[in-house]
Amino acid sequence: PGTRRWLFADQLGPHFLDAPDQPVLLLESTDVFRRGRFHRRKAHLILSALRHRAAELGEQAVFVQAPTYREGLAACGEAVSVCDPTSYPARRFVRRLPGVEVLASRGFVVSERQFRGWAERRGGKRLLMEDFYRDVRRFHGLLMDGAEPVGGTWNYDHENRSGPPRQEKLDLAEPRWPVEDDIDAEVRADLDRWERDDGVEFTGSDGPRRFAVTRREALGVLRRFLDERLEQFGTYEDAMLAGDPWMAHSLLSAPQNLGLLDPLEIARRAEEHGRAHGVRLASVEGFVRQVVGWRSYTWHLYWHLGEGYKQRNALGSERTIPDWFGDLDADAVEANCLRHVLGQVRDEGWTHHIPRLMVLGNWGLQRGYRPAELADWFWRNFVDGYDWVMTTNVVGMSQHADGGVLATKPYVSGGAYIDRMSDFCGGCRYDPKVRVGEDACPFTAGYWNFLAGHREELEGNRRMTQALRGLDRLRDLDGVLHQEAERGDGAP
Ligand code: SF4
Repeated sequence: PGTRRWLFADQLGPHFLDAPDQPVLLLESTDVFRRGRFHRRKAHLILSALRHRAAELGEQAVFVQAPTYREGLAACGEAVSVCDPTSYPARRFVRRLPGVEVLASRGFVVSERQFRGWAERRGGKRLLMEDFYRDVRRFHGLLMDGAEPVGGTWNYDHENRSGPPRQEKLDLAEPRWPVEDDIDAEVRADLDRWERDDGVEFTGSDGPRRFAVTRREALGVLRRFLDERLEQFGTYEDAMLAGDPWMAHSLLSAPQNLGLLDPLEIARRAEEHGRAHGVRLASVEGFVRQVVGWRSYTWHLYWHLGEGYKQRNALGSERTIPDWFGDLDADAVEANCLRHVLGQVRDEGWTHHIPRLMVLGNWGLQRGYRPAELADWFWRNFVDGYDWVMTTNVVGMSQHADGGVLATKPYVSGGAYIDRMSDFCGGCRYDPKVRVGEDACPFTAGYWNFLAGHREELEGNRRMTQALRGLDRLRDLDGVLHQEAERGDGAP
């Protein structure tokens, strides 16, 4: 069965073993949670997943709880192999350990070697997500009719941009929620004890576990998603509802990033299910694009762009994240969109991709929060957050701190976008159309303030020409700038 395989907590699926009966080492390090504050639900999810895997494997696994990985490895006392871990510091760490064989990473639709070859063949051209995604589909024969994409089109994004439905919840079966067991109770008791006796601090609030921690649970969530939710996924993919944070989303990012499901397996099941049940192609394609396209693309760019990428700060954003934001203090916020979304993060450790990008990220970009600090904030507070996920998504995509490597323009918008894509504005004390005064929407005012403050960096960008023309026509710009300077770090 081979050498003992050390599995990190994000490598828990069967595809991280060479054979089903390979001996396993699982290490739980308590010191990890002392290095800065994590969301309590994230800590719960990771510990619960590790302990469930240990229970599932029984005698096949050595399970060690120790302050540090080093001490855990010493307690195991055997030579082990490990699939290359998912962050720069973890890779450095495993390479320094004696008796540890490091293998190629797993869990993505193409290997790192394949990606390097792909990038070299582009010969210095931009590494576009769309090109990568199409080649992945060709390579794996996903959603293909021979050499052509199913339906004749690669990308159905234009059909997947509906605003919110009229009702305050989508008319869908609930997602499949996990049922907690004794292991969860034990994790919760340990976390309580660490907080009480050991001075470990967490963010966010505790509550019933929402995300799958075993492969069995994850497959159940996938099945329910395909049966009940996939059809509506695409249509409302980008919309936000105050009363329904989950909408038609799959809730599979957390179990996927724990390594419980293989992305190719998810995509193939979605395709098969779509064909067998006549599911709207735009929804199937939109979902497959997230799983085998965007997710894998950002993973590979994390390595391709190098460790220094995280520190890029093309817009010179130097503001420290204020306490109310860092502490997820949604009650301090009056702006309805931000209040709701920050509240979701506090309560669930999760919101879907649009509130992340267009509410939280947009806010951080407008206010000039330090990109690397914001990436860490997302990493620590989201149940599916990891350094590789958040570095590319936050520093590049959301904060435009890479000067346009990942996204050709900053994802910045005023209240009009949020109003179009959500039902937040109706219940807000601010007005998305107002820029100055008591009712001024902080996102709308912040948008113009951002453009004025970064005119120089944005001027050469063709995709920003129209926005900058709008700025030139603004007659009350001085009032906006004055008001925004006054706002400082306070919660809106
Ligand atoms: Fe958010 Fe502005 Fe709409 Fe209020 S008016 S919900 S602050 S976008």
